[in-house]
Amino acid sequence: MIEAGEMDRLDHLLPGWVDTSRQESIHGRVATYIPELSKAGRDLLGIHIINGEGRISEAGNTDHRFTLQSISKVFTLILALMDHGEAAVFSKVGKEPTGDNFNSMMKLELIQPAIPFNPLINAGAIVISSLIKGNTVEEKSARILQFFRKLAANDKLGYDEDVYRSERETGHLNRSMGYFLLDKGILEGEVEEVLEVYFRHCSIQVNTADLARMALVMAFNGQDPLSKEQLIPKRYVQIAKTFMITCGMYNGSGEFAICAGMPAKSGVSGGILTFVPGRLGIGVVGPSLNAKGNSIAGVHLLERLSKAFEWSIF
Ligand code: GLU
Repeated sequence: MIEAGEMDRLDHLLPGWVDTSRQESIHGRVATYIPELSKAGRDLLGIHIINGEGRISEAGNTDHRFTLQSISKVFTLILALMDHGEAAVFSKVGKEPTGDNFNSMMKLELIQPAIPFNPLINAGAIVISSLIKGNTVEEKSARILQFFRKLAANDKLGYDEDVYRSERETGHLNRSMGYFLLDKGILEGEVEEVLEVYFRHCSIQVNTADLARMALVMAFNGQDPLSKEQLIPKRYVQIAKTFMITCGMYNGSGEFAICAGMPAKSGVSGGILTFVPGRLGIGVVGPSLNAKGNSIAGVHLLERLSKAFEWSIF
C-alpha cells in the first residue's frame, strides 16, 4: 500500500470522476418531506478524502453545507454507549436490520418487547436521543454538539436553524413514534424534549471536510490520527461500524456492501460518511437521492472509487 501514491492518483482522477457521477443526479430526487431540504441543488456532488497524515484530496461542491440528518445517529449511538455502556443501550434498542423504511413503525407492533430493531432507524435513534446524559434538553444537545465538534475537529459546527424548525414543524411521524415508545415503556421522559434533542442533532450543519474528519476517527478505531487523542473507545467504533455495514445505507445496505464494501452512513440531505479502515476518512454530498434514499451520484462515485482503489473490507 503506497499512501502518497494513492492520494496523488485521487488528485488526478477525482475531478473527472465527480463530473461523470454528477450526471447520475438527474435520475434521483431531492428529499422534500422536510420542506427546507427541498431547497438543495439537485446537481451538486462533492467529495473530500483525508488520510492519517492529514493529506487531503477533494473535488466538486465541497463548499456545499448540509445537515447531518441520519448520519448523526452513528455518533449519538456512540455517545449513548459512552454514557451508559452496552447492556443498558441494547436493552432499549436492537441490533438487526429491518427491511422497512427508516421511518416505519410497522414492526414495533409485532415484537415483544417493542424495542426498535436498530439505532439507525428513526425509532431507534429517538430512543438513543432519550439516553443522552444531561439535566435539560439544552445540556443534552450541547453535549452532542460538543462531541461532534471534537470528532470533526471543528469548533464552529452549529445548527441549520431553518432545517431544525422545518423538521420540528413537520415531524409528525417521528412524534407519533415517540409517543408509541413512551406507551410501551421503552422511552422515558418528555417525548417533546426527546424529539427536540433528536431534531437538533439531525440539523447540525457540516460540509464534506467535516464528514471526512469524523470518518477519519472511525477509520482509526476511535483515535484522531492527527491529534493522537482517543475520542471513542475502540469497542464502540466496532459496534457502530457493524451497524453502518448492516443498516447504514437504509435498505440499500446489502447492495452497497457488495458493490463498495465500506462502512457508511447516509442521510436524507444527501450526505454519506464512509471510511477505509486504517487509511482514509471520506465525506460525500449529493442531494439527489435514489429510490433507497441514498445520494445517487454519491453512491455511483464511491462504488467506482472502491473498485479502482480496492477499498472493500470484504
Ligand atoms: N431527521 C430525519 C428524520 O427524522 C433523518 C432521516 C434520515 O436522514 O434518514 O426524518
